[in-house]
Amino acid sequence: MSIQMQCCGIVLMLLLFYFYIRQRRISLDTQKAFLRVFWATFFCLVFDILSIFAIDYRHVIGNGIAEFVAKSYLITLLLVAYSALTYMCVDIYETRELYRCKMKIYFILLVIGIIGTYAAPIEYHYAKDGETVLYTHGPSVIITYGMAVVFFIATFYLMKRKKEKINPRRREAVCIWLIVWVVTAQIQFIYTSLLMVGYAGAIGIMVLYLKLENPETNLDRQTGMFNGGALHQYTRQMFAKKQDFAVVGIFFEDIAYQNIQSEKREAVKMEIIEYFLKVPDALPFKKSQGEIIMLFHNAETAKKQLEEMRQRFTLGWEGSDTKQVHPRWLFLPHANVINRTEDFFELLRGVRDDEKQFSEKDFCLVSDEMIGKLNRKNETGQLIIDAINNDRVDVFYQPIFSTDKQRITSAEALVRIWDGDGNLVMPGSFIDIAEESGMILRLGEIVFEKVCSFIKQNSLERYGLHYIEVNLSVVQCAYDYLAADYIKIMDKYGVDPKFINLEITESASTNAKKTLLENMNALMGYGVSFSLDDFGTGQSNLNYIVDMPVEIVKFDKSMTNAYFENRKAKYVMDAAIHMIHGMGLKIVSEGIETEEQYRAMEDLGISHIQGYYFSRPLPEKEFVEFLNSRNCVEILE
Ligand code: C2E
Ligand code: MG
Ligand code: MG
Repeated sequence: MSIQMQCCGIVLMLLLFYFYIRQRRISLDTQKAFLRVFWATFFCLVFDILSIFAIDYRHVIGNGIAEFVAKSYLITLLLVAYSALTYMCVDIYETRELYRCKMKIYFILLVIGIIGTYAAPIEYHYAKDGETVLYTHGPSVIITYGMAVVFFIATFYLMKRKKEKINPRRREAVCIWLIVWVVTAQIQFIYTSLLMVGYAGAIGIMVLYLKLENPETNLDRQTGMFNGGALHQYTRQMFAKKQDFAVVGIFFEDIAYQNIQSEKREAVKMEIIEYFLKVPDALPFKKSQGEIIMLFHNAETAKKQLEEMRQRFTLGWEGSDTKQVHPRWLFLPHANVINRTEDFFELLRGVRDDEKQFSEKDFCLVSDEMIGKLNRKNETGQLIIDAINNDRVDVFYQPIFSTDKQRITSAEALVRIWDGDGNLVMPGSFIDIAEESGMILRLGEIVFEKVCSFIKQNSLERYGLHYIEVNLSVVQCAYDYLAADYIKIMDKYGVDPKFINLEITESASTNAKKTLLENMNALMGYGVSFSLDDFGTGQSNLNYIVDMPVEIVKFDKSMTNAYFENRKAKYVMDAAIHMIHGMGLKIVSEGIETEEQYRAMEDLGISHIQGYYFSRPLPEKEFVEFLNSRNCVEILE
């Protein structure tokens, strides 16, 4: 009997297990999967030894029992292959439903394998003496190996197909483990007396442990708390399982320690850490320097512990009332209102960096409004990305009527995007988010390309149009390469720049006036003209018009409306019109919906009118039809 190698394997595994259970751990799915692999390999070794004994003493214990033990050993081989596959799946299936469904399929295959192995006959290969069994074979063995091969192939297949989803260290470790296993199985197949598969399995487990599953990698060495990586893994798992948890964030900026002499700080910090480690029912994480995150499974418990912690912090440390530390506190009672780990981390970062979110007592209760804002930001961000990637960005055109010429002489290009269900999304719900994320640069470029392509395909002059107005965002205006990029686009489509009028807003210059002016000068040098949009909103400043080289001022809808509702507003409007005309600039009045409003604007001497009275913004094709059918003929009549 050659059981020395198996015994070595068992000792090795017991040692590993000892190290494993001694460490602080959080309950991670990957660790559960690892334990499955561990125990499958362990029992494989145990049953390897038992089956050798059982077969040798089959005359004593009876053929039936010997056969049962030999087959049980085969089953443990199957369990190893199955557990390897399930271990691999931990990273792959993000949604719980998909994970469960796949696990069910693999489990059914396992059960079929187990039943087949037990039900099919097993045969012994004898040595020359006709008595000593060298190895087992026959249908039962074929079923086991066949099924194990299926599991191995599935594991390698998933490893290759879902490569990008699997942690590379896991891929590498599982690869090494399986290769060691398969190679030793081959060697054992040729040299049947070398019973080394079980031992090789134990070595494989050691590789997994050292590369991936050592719980120490989840710990922060300095504090003994769990580290940021562990927080990431754990919260990802909780969100995937849709399990609720409560969060207490404690932020220690340097100012928190201002009451304490610097030489005493380390000692105080250590005492605080000791205190946090002992908070009942909490999982403490050191997310980053000066940032402790405590997770609780229950909001009530979290609230109670939070109060106690804050109370404790009103006392001093190191036995002195003067040594007080004042961190900032965040409380999120129900984390399941957030959808993804990334959003969770963004929320923590956002709150930490924004002092306004904290009350006088350095406390911030994360409100539904904050989370709603975050969720909207992420959903809309995704909507924009999808629209950009799937060519679902569209441009509508709203005609602008010239009171002098009594026909449509220009139009404003207005961006729209189509969502995945074919619904139209208006700019009011995504421009701010596109600006925040910087995606407005790409979005603006797409809009501009579409406008240039429209101008190239449809001769504007033939329709009596002088130019198309295109909105520029504040972010675009502050972008160094805006002029160069836009000139390149106009060149690409061979568009005469006189057909382009770019709309800027007053807020653009408060951000980066120098860059804005450089961009404007470069574009004007090329032949593009500018308008000032949104006049009459916010803190409109007539001086601003003096400063900015614009040709047109666009009165916002709110200003035109105020004119009809407020007596004083009339005087303001009269004065503004007078001054703007005095500077030789044109005015476009936006938001004109009725004939009465139109007449009033005309009487005020406003030369250009934009509003639903003439038309809503139209898709390209309808806009062309609109121009074709009625370029103001009826008004002329
Ligand atoms: P804006 O540039 O002031 O555009 C005028 C807005 O007023 C448009 O809304 C237009 O549909 C609306 N409007 C025009 N006439 C009437 C009217 O008679 N009644 C009413 N109730 N509304 C009228 P829209 O298309 O929803 O655009 C909203 C804002 O989104 C724009 O205001 C502009 O600031 C921004 N935007 C639109 N397209 C773009 C774009 O391509 N780039 C950038 N950066 N911003 C854009
Ligand atoms: Mg505009
Ligand atoms: Mg406007």
